[in-house]
Amino acid sequence: MTMEKNVERGLFDEVMVPCYNPMEMIPVKGEGARVWDQDGNEYIDFAGGIAVSCLGHCHPAMVKALNEQGSKLWHLSNVMTNEPALRLAKKLTEISFAEKVFFANSGAEANEAALKLARRYAADEFGPEKSEIIAFKQGFHGRTFFTVTVGGQEAYSDGFGPKPGDITHLPYNDVAALQAHISDRTCAVMMEPLQGEGGIVSPTPEFVQAVRELCDKHNALLIFDEVQTGNGRTGDFYAYQGLGITPDILSTAKSLGGGFPIGAMLTTTELAKHMKVGVHGSTYGGNPLACAVAEAVVEITSDPKTLAGVKEREVLMREGLQKINDKYGIFSEIRGKGLLLGGALNEAWQGRARDVLVAAGKQGLMMLVAGASVVRFTPSLVITPEEIEQGLARLDKAIASLV
Ligand SMILES: *Cc1c(COP(=O)(O)O)cnc(C)c1O
Repeated sequence: MTMEKNVERGLFDEVMVPCYNPMEMIPVKGEGARVWDQDGNEYIDFAGGIAVSCLGHCHPAMVKALNEQGSKLWHLSNVMTNEPALRLAKKLTEISFAEKVFFANSGAEANEAALKLARRYAADEFGPEKSEIIAFKQGFHGRTFFTVTVGGQEAYSDGFGPKPGDITHLPYNDVAALQAHISDRTCAVMMEPLQGEGGIVSPTPEFVQAVRELCDKHNALLIFDEVQTGNGRTGDFYAYQGLGITPDILSTAKSLGGGFPIGAMLTTTELAKHMKVGVHGSTYGGNPLACAVAEAVVEITSDPKTLAGVKEREVLMREGLQKINDKYGIFSEIRGKGLLLGGALNEAWQGRARDVLVAAGKQGLMMLVAGASVVRFTPSLVITPEEIEQGLARLDKAIASLV
């Protein structure tokens, strides 16, 4: 399967804003957990974009939803509503704590809506001095100026002029630090229920409990950023459902569209009423094509069989990674939950996550990193056991080429 090359990697440097540094090879086709590049080389996909393609590439149910909606109606302004948006919102409220949904186009936008709602609610109910947002070091919430400032890596928000204010960063999983800092001035606490970009760091049960209790004590809202963890990724439909607490606001994107851009903010009726007509909005939010695809995705990812399958695949991935580690002694820890897994590189391999990723690419495996010293795996939730085995065999070869 060789395809004609009319676009080459060099064109990126000519015409694209250089805020990315993409790989040399150019993928042109995907099917399930496999991808092919322009030269017909085949890859097993353990990345799925960045935890986006939760049903693999070109899943028949998604293709069908897109084609059907694509020949009916593509777009309406928010002066109208549309069937797919309302069906999807209904479905999301049925499978989560949420009673109300706001549609956006990305994770950052869903988080932007979440933060604006929290600020507006606190201002309406308690007055303007209740504006502090507490978030966590190494957290990631997107690239708009508000969300990137709430994120826990200053390097990403520095250099753009005055930052949105009253945002505090505390260490993740540090109950004492939160207890010492939170006050009645705190408007909201925003966290990922498993830090993704920050290195695949799970919260401790004590931390999760304490965050909820301290928020309640100080009338602060708890915002869960489930952009990466949501839609079945951790083996629960939303990660909060496996943690024994419920947030007040939840953001979801990435796997929600499975490859079609969409994000959503979920909340309660009580909170949602503070976003009156005109308070917030989005031109494309709730787009019929996006919602039709997401509806097909959610139908499958919320199925208990799919969720049970994620847990089975987690076992296969962990066993395989452990075997590789027994052979090469590369990881200090294999961590994460469901199919959001990380291998933390040990002392001797510090800073070499990207080397592993590049070597994997040469062996026909697409994977991710989470920082300089953690390799990350976020395959399709319906990847076959055989594909997991093949992918792990390629990872084994890639690591062998580095030792
Ligand atoms: C990817 C990610 C975002 C940003 O999503 P975009 O769609 O890129 O805006 C926000 N939060 C978390 C936890 C993410 O992983």
